[in-house]
Amino acid sequence: EAKRLGRNRVAYFSPAMQERAQERRRMSDDLRLAIEQQQLHVYYQPIVHMDTGRVVKAEALLRWQHPERGWINPAEFIPLAEETGLIFDIGEWIFHTVVTDTARWIREQGQTIQVSINVSPVQIAKGGDSMARCIAFYEAQALPHHSIVVEVTEGALLEHDETVEARLRQLAEHGIALALDDFGTGYSSLSYIQQYQFEFLKIDRTFVDNMKTASRQLALCKTIIDMAHTLDMRVIAEGIGSEHEATLLRQAGCDFGQGYFFHQPKTAQAFEGLLCSQAAVPDRG
Ligand code: C2E
Ligand code: MG
Ligand code: MG
Ligand code: MG
Repeated sequence: EAKRLGRNRVAYFSPAMQERAQERRRMSDDLRLAIEQQQLHVYYQPIVHMDTGRVVKAEALLRWQHPERGWINPAEFIPLAEETGLIFDIGEWIFHTVVTDTARWIREQGQTIQVSINVSPVQIAKGGDSMARCIAFYEAQALPHHSIVVEVTEGALLEHDETVEARLRQLAEHGIALALDDFGTGYSSLSYIQQYQFEFLKIDRTFVDNMKTASRQLALCKTIIDMAHTLDMRVIAEGIGSEHEATLLRQAGCDFGQGYFFHQPKTAQAFEGLLCSQAAVPDRG
């Protein structure tokens, strides 16, 4: 844009804008180093079966332990990673880490567990090579069908791109389950998403948050759940923060739940400990 308008335009950048640009450059330099210096960590948030409360799944969530700034959440650096193309290396690293951890848990604990990985629209649309390497790595582990779930948001589907469709189909054909993340925040209808092979639909946290104050939100959740079931998808509700919300969602027929009321995201070691203690208790569900 600046180029098109002529050089003089550049001079109009305010000091604040310059500072922001500099800050972005600093952060992307730091992020580039973050992988090799092992500052990135995968946390696992348990997902429970609504009827039994048993941990049957987990979602892998990325955290960055910055040497000076401390812990940084993905919302603050994933967009930067996408813009700079660092998302491909980061995404591949996450995939390897999660598949390796999951393989160990399944092998050592003999539990059926499904672990989901968030994959950004940029990775799906442009990360062909890294996605292919991820699939090859996954294949080599010979995990049970659907042990790994890939979560994509509606944003990935919006363009209705053939590449995107082919990539998602490829994941599904290799035995990786697909979940539609943050459902309800975008504009896609259930009939539109039906053409993809989603196993799971995740109801966005904002719906769950408003449920307690607005009965229409609850009715909406129930409608989404019923329609998802009709389309042969299982439903995971995100961001369940209270027993009340859990009860309402259970009554509405929601299959799985995730949120601080049940469990916070945990280190791999802590999550493994949770699986261990659960293995000692018989399943009453
Ligand atoms: P998401 O995939 O929808 O993940 C769920 C988010 O909700 C996580 O935030 C989780 O910590 C948070 N959460 C879970 N339960 C509760 C609750 O009860 N209350 C509240 N207020 N929040 C809850 P997080 O870890 O900050 O991640 C934010 C987003 O960043 C994720 O949203 C996902 O879109 C993205 N993200 C995280 N990890 C990755 C990754 O490895 N790769 C990519 N591409 N994106 C990632
Ligand atoms: Mg997610
Ligand atoms: Mg989500
Ligand atoms: Mg979200």
